[in-house]
Amino acid sequence: QSARELVSSLIASIPDFPEPGVTFRDLTPVFASGPALHALGASLTEPFAGRFDDIGGVEARGFLIAGAASAICGAGVLTIRKAGKLPRAVLREDYALEYGTAALEVHEGELPPGSRVLIVDDVLATGGTVAAAARLVERAGWQVAGISVALELEGLGGREALGDRYEIFSLLQY
Ligand code: IMP
Repeated sequence: QSARELVSSLIASIPDFPEPGVTFRDLTPVFASGPALHALGASLTEPFAGRFDDIGGVEARGFLIAGAASAICGAGVLTIRKAGKLPRAVLREDYALEYGTAALEVHEGELPPGSRVLIVDDVLATGGTVAAAARLVERAGWQVAGISVALELEGLGGREALGDRYEIFSLLQY
């Protein structure tokens, strides 16, 4: 069974969550399966092998994927956190949600200058979240090695919104 088949067999689709008309893709069964989480961590990093120094995990589900990937490839994890959680000096990027805004932060100087960061998250929808993560990485003086997600929701324009600046990999497309 391929990683793609294994992961897709475990993704649950929940109609009308968190609001009517939205179908929520739930990856918690993937995280709860050792073989699936391992396969996911491996498949999101393999396309970028040798081209990144650290894995940038976007809170919270991106942390799980980044941690699994780290255990496989040996790279460290840069924690790209929701605003207000990091205790030292931070850089902050606000981004638009469907309703309202959110913000992500990283610690300044967490990685050496020029470090190549592979950004990982579970789902790419409009692209606002990973775009904010990419801006943070660049403002901090690091390079975006690529963007790698488990699931790309085509039709929400994430890939288009990110443009040609970054190499984007998605294991699955819905
Ligand atoms: P975007 O910023 O619109 O690309 O949304 C991506 C962010 O929202 C990611 O951090 C995802 O974790 C989350 N997200 C959006 N849609 C879903 C979904 O259907 N299932 C799980 N997470 C989602």
